[in-house]
This record gives sequence, structure tokens and C-alpha cells, in this order.
Amino acid sequence: MTQTNFTDKNKVTKVAIIANGKFQSKKVANKLFSVLRDDEAFYLTKKNPDIVISIGGDGMLLSAFHAYENELNRVRFVGIHTGHLGFYTDYLDNQVDEFLKNLRADKGEKISYPILDVKVNLVDGREFTATALNEVTIKRIEKTMVADVVVNKIRMERFRGDGLLVATPTGSTAYNKSLGGAILHPSFEALQLTEIASLNNRVFRTVGSSMIIPSKDKIELLPRRTGSYVINVDNKTYHFRNVEQVTYQLSDRKINFMATPWHTSFWQRVKDAFIGDDV
Ligand code: NAD
Repeated sequence: MTQTNFTDKNKVTKVAIIANGKFQSKKVANKLFSVLRDDEAFYLTKKNPDIVISIGGDGMLLSAFHAYENELNRVRFVGIHTGHLGFYTDYLDNQVDEFLKNLRADKGEKISYPILDVKVNLVDGREFTATALNEVTIKRIEKTMVADVVVNKIRMERFRGDGLLVATPTGSTAYNKSLGGAILHPSFEALQLTEIASLNNRVFRTVGSSMIIPSKDKIELLPRRTGSYVINVDNKTYHFRNVEQVTYQLSDRKINFMATPWHTSFWQRVKDAFIGDDV
């Protein structure tokens, strides 16, 4: 996780506003449109924005990330949640005025988090690449998935089970956590490999626990069976037949968030999301 300054304060800031279909999200979007449209420091556009304002929940922020994943070097994201505070959202829908104040005082600072590159090679020679903010999962549709897991060129195990998940640090609190994976602070430049219902008995063995893989190490998955596989990249689903290899590595790129005084600490988010005010 890094915090730096990277925009020219003298230029007009190009802002994209994207919202999910909820009534409350549309209401917040309309308010932001009407205020920013009349402010000459900002230019509202969906094309090549400097700042993307996502209105909705974490799912909406995931969609915003994928909408601008080819412009990550320039774009900073900020999330307004129309519900309870999420993992990728700094503001609630009743805090729009505070958000506007912070936006006007913005000096281009950003907070950056690691993301994950995945490459899928098919038996017929085709290749598919994608980038994830939370995680990539692979499952075999018809039967038990059987795949060799290779970590940094070491053939670790022959996995049998429902599938495997590779999470980013910020994704560690999502599906990864539901599977018993660890919560990883995003200042760690690492991936987490987590099993989905592995078969473990006297015949079949897997490591069992989640593994934290450093940024220099690749994770490779070599399916041992032909057939249909489903690969989820955050909230996007892809279907493939006859997967030869899947390769995961921490990306050279990062997601940048607008650093405002309201950017909550990661551990505060963990407490708010999973424990609440009781302690
Ligand atoms: P969604 O927007 O309904 O998200 C599902 C839930 O995951 C929401 O409560 C959301 O706040 C939470 N979430 C998303 N990212 C998070 C994060 N980084 N940390 C903590 N919570 C997070 O549904 P969607 O749009 O399909 O979102 C896709 C995400 O849903 C996936 O990236 C995956 O992590 C998550 N998911 C979770 C499970 C599970 O926990 N069993 C199963 C499938 C998908």
C-alpha cells in the first residue's frame, strides 16, 4: 500500500460518475451531477477520467474497476456506499457533502493496492488474460476438479476437490475469508491460494491451509482432466472447455484510490464489517 501525489492541480479534473440501479444510488448520482456540472474545476465525462466515483456497494466498485481496468495508471477510484460501509467505499450516501468538500480539497493523493493477473491457456492453443481486484476462482463443472498445483516451479500437490481460489490482499476479506482463508493487510505484496472443498483422505492429500505467495512467485495450475471449467474474475464469469494451464501472478499495475481524510484504515474496515461496535 503506497500513498503519493500524482495529479497536476492546475488542470480541470475529469470525473466519471457510475452508479448501480438502486433508487438511492441514482439519487446520489443526480446530486453529484448537478453540483459538479456547475463547478468549473471539474469536467464530467466517462472518457479518460482522472477520478471515477462509484455509487453503490463493493460489487459496484468491482464493476467500476473492470470498466476502467485498461486506464489504471491514470484513474483514481472513490466509492460512495448506498447501504452500510463496504470494503472499497469510503463514504455513505448521507455523507455526500463531506465527500464534495474533500473532492474540492483534493491534491491528487492516492492509496494503491495490489491486483492480480491471470492467464488461461486452452488445449487448442487459445489464451485468455484478465485482471482481478478481489480474486479468481476456478471450478470444474461436471465432476471433481483434479489439477496439479505448482508454486514457484515446485509441484506442490495434486489437488482434488471443487476448485481453487487466488485472492489479492484486499480480496482476502471477501470469498477467500468465507473459505477459511486469512485476512491479509494490503501492505503485503502477496497473493493467497485457498482451496475450495478439497478431498483429503488416506489416498488424496493437499496442503489444506491457505498459502500466502510472495509477489515474485508464480502460481500455476495444470488441470488433469478435460471438460468444462468455470472461471470467475471478481463478479465476472467465464466458461472454458479443456483448460491446459492457469497462471496467476501479482500484477505490475495497481488500483489507485483517492486518498482523502475519510479513507478508513484497513483494520477499522475489518472490525466494522465483521465485528461491529460490541468490543
Ligand atoms: P455482491 O456485490 O453481492 O458481493 C457479495 C458480497 O461480498 C457483498 O456483501 C460485498 O460487500 C462483499 N465483498 C465484495 N468485495 C469484498 C471485499 N474485498 N471484502 C469484503 N467483502 C467484500 O456480489 P458480486 O457483485 O457478485 O461480488 C462479487 C464478489 O462476491 C466476489 O469478488 C467474491 O469475493 C464475493 N463472493 C463471495 C462468496 C462467499 O463469500 N461465499 C461467494 C461468491 C462471491
